[in-house]
Amino acid sequence: MTYPLKIEEEQQLNASRLLRFIDNSPSPWHAAASIAAQLEQAGYRRYSEQQGWRLKSGDKGYVLRADASLICFRIGNEPLRQTGFRVIGAHTDSPGLRVKPRPVIASGNMLRLGVEIYGGPILATFTDRDLSLAGRLIIRNDGGSLEMRLIRFAQPLVRLPNLPIHLNRNVNEDGLKLHKQNELPLLFGNIESSDDNSRALLALLAEQAAIDADAIVSTELSVCDTQCGSFWGSSNEFIANSQLDNLASCHAALTALTAQESSAATSVCGFFDHEEVGSVSYQGAGGNFLSVLLERIAQASGLSDEDHNRAIASSFFVSADMAHAWHPNFPAVYDEQHRIFVNKGPVIKHNANQSYATSAVSEACFIGWCEAAGVEYQRYVHCNDLRCGGTIGSTLAASLGMRTVDVGNPLWAMHSLRESAGVLDHSAMIRVMEQFFQCGRIASG
Ligand SMILES: [Zn+2]
Repeated sequence: MTYPLKIEEEQQLNASRLLRFIDNSPSPWHAAASIAAQLEQAGYRRYSEQQGWRLKSGDKGYVLRADASLICFRIGNEPLRQTGFRVIGAHTDSPGLRVKPRPVIASGNMLRLGVEIYGGPILATFTDRDLSLAGRLIIRNDGGSLEMRLIRFAQPLVRLPNLPIHLNRNVNEDGLKLHKQNELPLLFGNIESSDDNSRALLALLAEQAAIDADAIVSTELSVCDTQCGSFWGSSNEFIANSQLDNLASCHAALTALTAQESSAATSVCGFFDHEEVGSVSYQGAGGNFLSVLLERIAQASGLSDEDHNRAIASSFFVSADMAHAWHPNFPAVYDEQHRIFVNKGPVIKHNANQSYATSAVSEACFIGWCEAAGVEYQRYVHCNDLRCGGTIGSTLAASLGMRTVDVGNPLWAMHSLRESAGVLDHSAMIRVMEQFFQCGRIASG
């Protein structure tokens, strides 16, 4: 590598757009709305699962579930039963803290907000940061109907201050340990008296949404970071932000899809909530959202059941999620033969126990798209001594009956509130995904 590292304008631009996309998506509900807005701009129209569909070559659409999962598609120019689907999947959720339904706790002269732990965040990274809240409100209109409203506070609103080192003398030796029930509530405000403060958050939400507090029926709120994304490194070759896992993969797939006007095969992107908690839910990848949607697309395109099954057998699924980049300070936790480096290209993930769905065939296909895109690739296997994580690849390979490869870009500090990745990798992944959407027939096997 030469110094400074050469970064092309397009690579810089794609990374900047990614950071802005994440800054505008502080919760999975906001992420789905950001994706929908970009799709609308690219001429995709919203479809409802409750209505009948008719589709023809070139049609572009998207469907939302629970405001947090989104599937979009572009109908190909060639017969679906022959080409099959080209599907990329990623997740919209990130591990963190979620506000409890009755969150307000009065202690001394302080109000605190009780939180649940969502998925597996590195809790210590939530301390001493300018945290805020984002999510959705369900409000009842005058006529009695229910309406969803996104809400976010741009300014810091809550905080989890550390103890001073003088009251936690061994913190640097033992690491920061937080009692999950007692020591995670977020400091929220001062109080003057023992008045009833149970509606303090509700009042703030109502004010922010410019509605009456009594109209708010229920809420789902994530704790988010208010710090915007940034570039860092000697050549500005790295990026940092919250939620790079996995909004970076969502953004790469979305960018690849909308960069193209048409393709021979029908292109599909599935962006799913609830990956961090196992995917089994109404809107998760372990539910029926994608299988039903593919069936609906086939039916609306006039395919018989047999034709649909033929299409599925000719299809391919790219499961895109981030991968553990090699960290030079901690070489012992990596398999030396399978170290993956930031800014050295997309990673193909292997696990013999099927935590990842990659097979020799699906790997060979992905390598073909990397070569066609002129992009370097890397291979990852988790250290045998440590439990391997999983993602949506194996779940969907099983439920759809579709050949699948698990891939992703290298990432430092996965599940930290502030993760880091490479500028070059993001554009590389976009280019490979473009090749994937444009590829012709995929050999069976
Ligand atoms: Zn992930």
